[in-house]
Amino acid sequence: MKFAVFYWKGKTQIGRVIEAENAIECFDIPEASIKQDGVVALIDGASPKIVETVPISEVELLAPVPRPSRNIFCVGKNYHEHAKEFASSGFDSSAAKGAIPEAPIVFSKLPETVVKNGAAIRIDASVSTAIDYEAELAVIIGKAGRNISKEDALSHVWGYTVVNDVTARDLQGRHSQWLISKSQDTFCPMGPWAVTADEIDLKDTLVKCWINEELRQDSNTGLLIFDIPTIIEAISNGITLEPGDIIATGTPAGVGIGFNPPKYLEPGDKVRVEIGGIGTLENPVEAY
Ligand code: MG
Repeated sequence: MKFAVFYWKGKTQIGRVIEAENAIECFDIPEASIKQDGVVALIDGASPKIVETVPISEVELLAPVPRPSRNIFCVGKNYHEHAKEFASSGFDSSAAKGAIPEAPIVFSKLPETVVKNGAAIRIDASVSTAIDYEAELAVIIGKAGRNISKEDALSHVWGYTVVNDVTARDLQGRHSQWLISKSQDTFCPMGPWAVTADEIDLKDTLVKCWINEELRQDSNTGLLIFDIPTIIEAISNGITLEPGDIIATGTPAGVGIGFNPPKYLEPGDKVRVEIGGIGTLENPVEAY
């Protein structure tokens, strides 16, 4: 099932998306818990009552987890062809260890980076002149756990959404650690909604990204270097994962630095990320 967080009739609501009918069934869930947790408010709840059904086009979709309760976990260099393009870009401070990592590379983005479908990715030319896009499947954790084994990992997943792990490449190279380059304001578009785990075939899900009408990334989660159970095992090794934690699983080849010369984002561009079985996340690029 697909669930959206949205603004409608003056308040933040959650509902089930029925794409075939272009409609959302609005649930009777208290607004306070939705503002805090987004779709996570559904994880432990009983079956909510449907209050009304409205056309998707009438509501303002918000990110499915509008403000995660802590940093978003992210995996770097997790598709072979992307690991190679990044290692040879000159911005990869880990390149000396080889293009293909031996263990998942995990970093994080600040929760305040999250913006909704349709919101602008803001470019500040006084801060960075090398801003790049990264289409990614993101995991939404539903059950807490520590030292989770690969075998158990998927039982901790509530669902999935789409993120764009926007990155300032010049800052990524300059600072070695990636937090600053990944956590610039507006650098985590998320949405348009979330799907429950049963809707996604992790071995065969398309990951695509267009800049304007040019297809730049066209891959499949079957090509991940470290699959999602391996990622969850690695992150939860001594760190308790909590319901509502988000894990961005890495981007495939075709990011801006993969081109010669690089193709960075410019004001006026439109970035469209599509993950098969979930939906399309589209954000314009605007100057500050
Ligand atoms: Mg990424």
